[in-house]
Amino acid sequence: MITESLKPAELHKIDPVFGQLSFDNHEQIVFCNDKDTGLKAIIGIHNTVLGPALGGTRMWKYDNEWEALNDVLRLSRGMTFKSAITGLNLGGGKAVIIGDSKIDKTPEMIAKFGQYVNSLSGKYITAEDVGTTTQDMDLIRENTKFVTGVSIEKGGSGNPSPVTAYGVYMGMKAAAKYKFGTDVLEGKKILVQGIGHVGETLVDYLTAEGAKVIISDINEIRLQEIGNKYGAKIYHGDDLYSADVDIYAPCALGATINNDTIRRIKAKVIAGAANNQLANENIHGAILKEMGIAYAPDFLINAGGIINVYSELVGYDNAESMRKTENIYNTTLEIFDYADANNITTHQAALSIAQNRIDLRKKEMAK
Ligand code: NAD
Repeated sequence: MITESLKPAELHKIDPVFGQLSFDNHEQIVFCNDKDTGLKAIIGIHNTVLGPALGGTRMWKYDNEWEALNDVLRLSRGMTFKSAITGLNLGGGKAVIIGDSKIDKTPEMIAKFGQYVNSLSGKYITAEDVGTTTQDMDLIRENTKFVTGVSIEKGGSGNPSPVTAYGVYMGMKAAAKYKFGTDVLEGKKILVQGIGHVGETLVDYLTAEGAKVIISDINEIRLQEIGNKYGAKIYHGDDLYSADVDIYAPCALGATINNDTIRRIKAKVIAGAANNQLANENIHGAILKEMGIAYAPDFLINAGGIINVYSELVGYDNAESMRKTENIYNTTLEIFDYADANNITTHQAALSIAQNRIDLRKKEMAK
């Protein structure tokens, strides 16, 4: 249950795999190495009780292999709960490729990765994530059928990010309803951190509704581009977390809610796309509760993407994906109620409901 990574220097002190802090009874961890293409990847299969482990492949320039391992352990576990809470018949898995996607990625490397995915015979199904693209999925498709997020031209559902953004928007509206008594976002000051694939579409929804959107990103060119396109304000201060906003939407990378940032947060609602937003889900979830900040659990409200790619497995239908994604609004409200009724954090509430679904299926299977 512990998700906070140790400092790299401390990681070697514990058992290499099953002793990692992020290890949570994962069913299988596959290390992939190919000398010819330079591929170094790890596939994490956390749980397959509800179905095959579906989750994206992240390509990232990790500082060391421990960091990559802990990331795949954390992310794959997150997928188990994401699919369970969303009502999908999927387990949780994820893969990481070690390297800089802009420099190190080659078609040969991606094709080889596809062969590794294929070797698992469908126990793990991949999709895109940070550092991988729809084109990569098309290439993987040539090597295995166990891939989603394939382009529309190749019979897939294309880039899942717009659907993810719609789910985040729905979750944000539900959290606003809970906290402010209305889900109308017009006039609300909303900080979107990270205006990549998901962040941009979210900014589109928010500005269309009349929210006062403030954007932040490490990519200056993109900031100017998105700022101009949607009339969003660019954040210029040096303390993003203490920005005077109503809603904070983390849409870049995880763990932005941590010991350094949490007490500075002024927003009353947190709802964003990034995975694993809480550096430590127990400690930081509890502090948010104590601070009276309504936190919409990341793995619930960013599930639009998985809903969309899942539909590839059962016959792709965009309208059906959007309808299911819209339901994130209702599920988010249910989670706020469940958390209040049981005096637990929203993160714990979402985990508990998801775990109950898994336990129930396990019991049914044992009959
Ligand atoms: P992306 O790579 O397209 O965009 C990420 C953006 O964040 C980039 O513009 C990048 O420059 C910016 N960024 C990176 N570090 C930053 C920092 N420190 N401060 C501000 N900006 C920073 O990724 P995406 O597909 O938009 O996904 C965003 C997040 O949502 C990721 O955490 C991803 O795992 C998660 N997510 C995405 C999907 C999806 O469908 N794409 C689904 C579920 C979860």
